[in-house]
Amino acid sequence: MAMERTISIVKPDAVGKNVIGKIYSRFEDAGLKIIAAKMKHLSQKEAEGFYAVHKERPFFKDLVSFMTSGPVMIQVLEGESAVAKNREIMGATNPKEAAAGTIRADFAQSIDENAVHGSDSVENAAIEIAYFFSATEICPRTR
Ligand code: UDP
Repeated sequence: MAMERTISIVKPDAVGKNVIGKIYSRFEDAGLKIIAAKMKHLSQKEAEGFYAVHKERPFFKDLVSFMTSGPVMIQVLEGESAVAKNREIMGATNPKEAAAGTIRADFAQSIDENAVHGSDSVENAAIEIAYFFSATEICPRTR
């Protein structure tokens, strides 16, 4: 297993429900370390840029509008197989299909407002980390 980094975003619905800490516990309980974090109210431009791969999809406009509807909490997670591990604890995109005990099963209501984002590959994780964090904002553990 490889040591990896991934991006996680607590989306505006979950920030609004005041469950940032509960979601952070899921990461820590799974052995993932938070090595960078920032709260941000995304501009339309930032949300459109982040989700550019979806720009032709029918839900793109609503997705951008949702992601800019309130602050988000963005973090870099580090650990063994961090990308897959984070996807596993997030659960399926549609919370109705998400496995019991996953973040989306427990904190999300619908496929469009689904509590968290997580990078889907190591390659995309590197791009997404660079989108939100400079190298000096990332704090690997020294103890
Ligand atoms: N999404 C949506 N409607 C859909 C599919 C996706 O609103 O039918 C939104 C949802 O917020 C999802 C995001 O677009 O998390 C990105 O979609 P993706 O398929 O990449 O899912 P994810 O990687 O977030 O599970």
